[in-house]
Amino acid sequence: MTDRSASFEPGPNFLRAIIEADLEAGKYDKRVVTRFPPEPNGYLHIGHAKSICLNFGLAADYKGICHLRFDDTNPETEDPEYVESIQNDVRWLGFEWDDKLFFASDYFEQLYECAIDLIKSGKAYVDSQSDEEIRDTRGTVTRPGRESPYRDRPIADNLDLFRRMRAGEFADGTHVLRARIDMSAPNMKMRDPLLYRIRHAHHYRTGDEWCIYPMYDFAHPLSDAIENITHSFCTLEFENNRELYDWVVDNAWTTPRPYQYEFNRLNLDYTVMSKRKLLQLVEEGYVSGWDDPRLPTLAGLRRRGVTPDSIRDFCARVGVARTDSRVDIALLEYSIRNDLNQKAPRVMAVLDPLRVVITNYPNDEVDWLNASYWPHDVPREGSRKIPFTKHIYIERADFMEDPPRKFFRLAPGREVRLRYGYFITCEDVVKDPRTGEIIELHCRYDPETRGGDAPDGRKVKATLHWVSADRSLPAEVRLYDRLFSDRNPEQESDDWKSALNPESAVTVEARIEPSITNDDPATRYQFERQGYFWRDPVDSRDDHIVFNRIVTLRDTWAKVAAREERVATTVTGKNKAPSPESADVTTTSAERRSEPTRTQLSKAAEISRRHGIDEEDAVLIAGDEKLAHFFEQALASHGNATSIANWLIHELPRAMKGKRVDQLPFGPAELAELVSLVDDGTISGRTAKELLARLAAEGGRPGEMVREQGLSQVTDPSELRPVVASVIDRYPDKAVEFRGGKHGLMGFFVGQVMRETGGKANPELTRDLLLERLKEVAD
Ligand code: ATP
Ligand code: MG
Repeated sequence: MTDRSASFEPGPNFLRAIIEADLEAGKYDKRVVTRFPPEPNGYLHIGHAKSICLNFGLAADYKGICHLRFDDTNPETEDPEYVESIQNDVRWLGFEWDDKLFFASDYFEQLYECAIDLIKSGKAYVDSQSDEEIRDTRGTVTRPGRESPYRDRPIADNLDLFRRMRAGEFADGTHVLRARIDMSAPNMKMRDPLLYRIRHAHHYRTGDEWCIYPMYDFAHPLSDAIENITHSFCTLEFENNRELYDWVVDNAWTTPRPYQYEFNRLNLDYTVMSKRKLLQLVEEGYVSGWDDPRLPTLAGLRRRGVTPDSIRDFCARVGVARTDSRVDIALLEYSIRNDLNQKAPRVMAVLDPLRVVITNYPNDEVDWLNASYWPHDVPREGSRKIPFTKHIYIERADFMEDPPRKFFRLAPGREVRLRYGYFITCEDVVKDPRTGEIIELHCRYDPETRGGDAPDGRKVKATLHWVSADRSLPAEVRLYDRLFSDRNPEQESDDWKSALNPESAVTVEARIEPSITNDDPATRYQFERQGYFWRDPVDSRDDHIVFNRIVTLRDTWAKVAAREERVATTVTGKNKAPSPESADVTTTSAERRSEPTRTQLSKAAEISRRHGIDEEDAVLIAGDEKLAHFFEQALASHGNATSIANWLIHELPRAMKGKRVDQLPFGPAELAELVSLVDDGTISGRTAKELLARLAAEGGRPGEMVREQGLSQVTDPSELRPVVASVIDRYPDKAVEFRGGKHGLMGFFVGQVMRETGGKANPELTRDLLLERLKEVAD
């Protein structure tokens, strides 16, 4: 991990700031042209997504254009399959390049002419040293390099040799073209860098037309210049190449010229992102292909079921900075869940089925129960019917014959609720006489509890998901987990493959409710209490359904508790709880493996319990020591842990723009102060977000800022009413649509009032006044 922010402090949003300054100065006739320049030598991964979102996103924000350019100057590794997949992936992410599709290989002739010009002006020469000699004479960071004996070759000879290189007269490696800069330059990249080399290789686009190929440092800046790119954004590892970039465009091009700016690469935990390593995993069969759902490739994420929306959201959350860092995979999972939570209808599936006979239920009867698709989102409409029958399946882990103290699910003699169905009571456990394995439960149901409530008001402590045994569908369910067990597998450079997680793909035979049969095959579901799933787009067929788990649910705390309890009971032997081995069979075993480290989990559990905050939030906090410390300190000044956690996890990362909490110009006390201003209603959430962005940029005291800049919320109806009226008058068509039932427009109206008031209107009051006014005008 390198920290370069010390030498250069760009502040937040530094790429935007650069663009805005250029626009302000009237540079490039106020055009913004960016490009995404992949080399077609592999599939795109989520790191590329960050670059895509940035290049296409910034261009769009400033009404500019983003080019898609294939940087295809290495014949040996490039392939049309990759060109195709890259285009698919960029489109899938939601970006369009219209007719701005380019190939560096289309510029070969132009680049060759630029090289000729450099030779003519004495700025490039043909070097006939071997690769080894060239390497050995480059010097080191502390020692200057040695000039090549061919450095002062006459221009005419250089021209002649370079032309003959192109004509194919020489074997690979006999000559190269080098820039004539300075062999003792402090920046090693400037020590007469190579511009061209001989490669008798077939290029997927230009065929055998060329046997000399330009180097990246020559082709890239000139391709940018040829396309009139204004802002050339690349990752930090090219920082040292910038000087050469400038040299090339300054010496081989005319103005206006592009400039290069660097931002931090995305590094994600528990995976590898280098194309070379991904290729190795694919070619050596560690994964099933570039679209293996465990890979961080866009093709893999897509096949897994991740939506492009969640990837864009994730990229926005990680932000850009000039400091390299690693991103916790929990953040990606958070974005995925956040998105699917809105989109995925809830259905029931049993991943590890245990058969249950309802002894007092008639043999052939089917009771079609009504079940909402959106039980978490009550006014939302949409439901399906699910069949209740004499034989059903429940999750094996939802039953324990001899339950420990905190286990509230089904056990002998205990009553629980079947989701959307009835209360059942377990009366008998049937075991395999040979192995002792539980093969069936006998339960009674209470016909009075249909729909899930007892008329006498009696309560049960657990609600289980279930499916009908004969009317559910068998399905192969693939439970994917992290590809590596090591947080940063790339650290162990040689042995990185030894960190592969042997259990990154576990397949189970599950049963799914029949309602899914006629759904759009691309539907993403939440299997209640399990996670988000969708049909594998490659392998699933009508007669052999295959589901992929996209991401688990946020039930980390439950699992921690279960584990702690298991450990405790194994140690003390107090309860006859199942041994860890048998527990592995009865709980969805793959689920438990997809967690953060054990230490993080117990720390998260501890935070969650102590402060009563959401378990998933606790995991995010516990996963980052500095964040955890920040959280504890903020709590010392403001008591509401849930709010603090919320702001820390959901808002702060956006404002930090890639910084770490300990690099912020404000501390926990200021965050706590800000949160308390929101919580007590002094300022609106929106104002607070803006303040947070400013705090992150320049520091300050939130209370003072609010006072000095008059940011307090408007909570006085008489002050807000005229604003509400004028907004509604301004959009009469929308008001009519609203009254016609398009209630989604409320958000629009609230947004307008917010704009008018600079974000200061109290949202609840605004909503009430809008409703009041919209009704009034209708009457
Ligand atoms: P690798 O180094 O794995 O071979 P690459 O970065 O060379 O990959 P390119 O096809 O050259 O792959 O990348 C295209 C663009 O995507 C470049 O501008 C590069 O900076 C950017 N990019 C690649 N990886 C990341 C990443 N992890 N985070 C952000 N941007 C990235
Ligand atoms: Mg590259």
